[in-house]
Amino acid sequence: MAEIVIISIEILGEILRWIIAITLFGAGILIIQIWIKDKTKRISYTRIIIQLVSLAFFYFLLFSFPWLLIILIVILVLTIFIGRFFCGWVCPFGLYMDVITIFRKTLKKRYLLLPISFNKFLDKFRYLIFAIIFAIPFIIAPLHSQSFQLALFFAGPFKHWTIFLGPLETLIVPDSGAWVIYGLNLSYPYVRDVMFYSTGFFIQFNSILFILLTFVGSFLIRRLWCRFCPLGLSFAVLNKVKGFSWLPIVHLDKSEEKCTKCGVCKRVCPTQVTEVYENKGGNVSTSICTHCFRCVEMCPYEGCLSVKVAGKSVLSSRNWLEPSETE
Ligand code: SF4
Ligand code: SF4
Ligand code: SF4
Repeated sequence: MAEIVIISIEILGEILRWIIAITLFGAGILIIQIWIKDKTKRISYTRIIIQLVSLAFFYFLLFSFPWLLIILIVILVLTIFIGRFFCGWVCPFGLYMDVITIFRKTLKKRYLLLPISFNKFLDKFRYLIFAIIFAIPFIIAPLHSQSFQLALFFAGPFKHWTIFLGPLETLIVPDSGAWVIYGLNLSYPYVRDVMFYSTGFFIQFNSILFILLTFVGSFLIRRLWCRFCPLGLSFAVLNKVKGFSWLPIVHLDKSEEKCTKCGVCKRVCPTQVTEVYENKGGNVSTSICTHCFRCVEMCPYEGCLSVKVAGKSVLSSRNWLEPSETE
């Protein structure tokens, strides 16, 4: 009897895997079709494909210890050069929030906006969160033996640097997840940390509450977590330091003469960046910008907004209101 139950669970797990694979394949075909037909969605769908590939990448890499540290260092170092590109194009939690946004759009529900001053405050607040998490082991370690100091730094009771990597958690994980359903180890960003810091009844209660809150929050406010997430920090400020004005090398550029102040860029920005709309021409990148380039995709004036890499334009807004002569 027990064997039959185990075999049934295995078969169900296998069916679930196939359903997920077929759904992803179908979604891929759909995305390619829309990509070909709709100019206002090409960047968005290319981004989703890259986010999905990254998700698979993190599934295999994230749970091997040296990779965790390497990934964290790579993210922080790359941010110096290419800004928050990781947030717009790679981060799994960012992808989940984008999927929740698509879900909201299909239900035709309007998103809510945070007050701009509060949005900017949250963007600064992330640096304080980062500093606190980063400082904890250095404050506590001197009180302990050397071996414990090392353990404290890399895992320890605070698991501080794995908290930075919380947004990279895949929903299906190869090691022990938060829950096992039909042989699949399931998880969610930060949920294993929430479990780690909870006891008894609150282990499940806090986890489910956390998922509900982040889901509802992201449903109502686009990319809510990205407004204060400590991993989403930007080193854009470095280009203000003498001798480092060339950093970061990826930025958004606006042509003042071509801008009609239509306001589209402000409306479509998932993190409520206002500078692209408000600032005069030139470099309009800010620390809140996740480099998703939705504003470039949606700006309806040819060459008004562009993405520049090391001073060279690699992507520009196009007049999508009128069909081009080649189409
Ligand atoms: S801000 Fe954090 S959660 Fe948002 S995309 Fe960046 S790393 Fe991911
Ligand atoms: S979408 Fe383009 S034209 Fe419209 S306000 Fe923004 S930058 Fe200006
Ligand atoms: S300013 Fe443009 S590129 Fe930056 S987050 Fe907003 S829409 Fe994306």
